[in-house]
Amino acid sequence: MSTSHVVVVGAGIAGLAAARLLARGGARVTVLEGSPRIGGKLQVSEVGGLPVDEGAEAMLARRPEGLDLVRDLGHAGALVHPGTTSSAIFSHGALRRLPQGQVMGIPSDLRALAASHVLSPAGLARVPLDLVLPETPRGGDVSVADFIGARMGREVVDRLVEPLLGGVYAGRVEELSLEATMPSVAAAARSHRSLIAAVRGIRAAGPAPAAAGPVFATLPGGLGTLPHLVAEDVTAAGGTIRTGTMVRELRRRPDGWRLTLGPARAPEALDADAVVVAVPAAPAARLLAADVPAAARELERIDYASMALITLVYAASAFPRLPRGSGYLVPAVERREVKAVTFSSVKWPHLRDRDPGVIAVRCSIGRYGEEHTLQRSDDDLKAAAMTELAATCGVSELPLESRVTRWGGGLPQYNVGHVDRVARIRAAVTRQPGLAVAGAAYDGLGIPACIAGARAAATRMLEFVNGRGESSHGSDGQGEQAESTRS
Ligand SMILES: Cc1cc2nc3c(=O)[nH]c(=O)nc-3n(C[C@H](O)[C@H](O)[C@H](O)COP(=O)(O)OP(=O)(O)OC[C@H]3O[C@@H](n4cnc5c(N)ncnc54)[C@H](O)[C@@H]3O)c2cc1C
Repeated sequence: MSTSHVVVVGAGIAGLAAARLLARGGARVTVLEGSPRIGGKLQVSEVGGLPVDEGAEAMLARRPEGLDLVRDLGHAGALVHPGTTSSAIFSHGALRRLPQGQVMGIPSDLRALAASHVLSPAGLARVPLDLVLPETPRGGDVSVADFIGARMGREVVDRLVEPLLGGVYAGRVEELSLEATMPSVAAAARSHRSLIAAVRGIRAAGPAPAAAGPVFATLPGGLGTLPHLVAEDVTAAGGTIRTGTMVRELRRRPDGWRLTLGPARAPEALDADAVVVAVPAAPAARLLAADVPAAARELERIDYASMALITLVYAASAFPRLPRGSGYLVPAVERREVKAVTFSSVKWPHLRDRDPGVIAVRCSIGRYGEEHTLQRSDDDLKAAAMTELAATCGVSELPLESRVTRWGGGLPQYNVGHVDRVARIRAAVTRQPGLAVAGAAYDGLGIPACIAGARAAATRMLEFVNGRGESSHGSDGQGEQAESTRS
């Protein structure tokens, strides 16, 4: 009996997680990755002898999917957690402790907020008006800035919410969707007139901080090692992963799908019973344009932000005082080039233990709509990062080693209307037998969310191929020359 052939396009964490479930579920799986390496936004390399992630570095541990995957791969014992979660905000000219009691920057503890000095006296005085203001009407989705600004004043938006959301989306609070970026806040704010009360409700419903366990986790060699662990499992289950294999076209056939791969001068056709498209929105739109135009049109409207990460490894002695927190965020209104700093050797004790004589720091530059800040040389970006650390930490020495990683179009923007847009994409995709989408463009760009989306896509495709019975594309496992099959 032949086995159904399922092709996964994209070997980021979403594509690999989907491929793993498909292969384990009995499908014959081929993963096609356009770039020379797997992992997408998960990538790690050594700087100054330390394995420091070039992209994602921390997985949320309060959602189960990421940890479950590591556990299922047999590496639960390897997981490591941050040594400190204390972080700061650069506001009104100094580093200030992030106030206790906030959720995505929205304060719930007014005393802690006052003590933090993140807001000006006028900004602080505006916040409690939220407790007495009438309900803020909101029919459908609204921007984060509009809703939170109306409740608590613009300073909360600019100096707390923007930097925290900026750390995830590098986006503009005027455009980011409340429903998509803060679903729990959006939901709680429907049942509470006051936003402070809504946030207090969210915090009260969650576990007590002491009982909740660590917020984040990573792997000792970097989160960039995770895709390789998943890929090993895919191949162990019989799957094939092809890198350097760009998918250029996806077309419906009476009995499944045909993918056109590789360079235009030597195209190859590969037939599949089902396809999981796990690539960012722009390439997904191109692949779906011919046969699922309604989804493609919506995907084209998902914008992406670009950013760069500058990793600097200093001699520990370069810091007059060792940093104590995990790092700090810089609100856009401060008009500094660097928008976030992570003291990796402080945040991750395993890095510090590897070499206590050095301190690794990651600085990020680049926000949505400010691509010009990245249009300069690596040396200029390093100089901007060094200037930032000189100003806030008094570091006057040069780093021992440094690295610049650019993520052009790295972060999808969940702008107002995103949830409805994704619903329309899914509706159009679901109407196509044997087609699913997964990845950061849809229901969350954090790693656990990408894995959750991958699980759902793989489950649906397994149901489809199993329900369909015998496959017409299962026997040979070979691609064929597109030109010859078209004749
Ligand atoms: C700098 C940075 C830091 C981040 N930090 C964190 C963090 O700390 N924690 C966290 O949870 N999340 C973080 N994220 C978000 C998270 O890493 C990503 O959202 C997630 O990894 C995306 O996975 P994905 O599989 O959807 O897509 P991607 O990782 O983008 O993978 C898609 C793959 O598809 C390939 N591809 C594209 N087009 C084609 C084609 N036509 N044919 C074949 N292959 C194709 C690409 O080459 C790529 O490998 C960060 C993101 C960035 C950019």
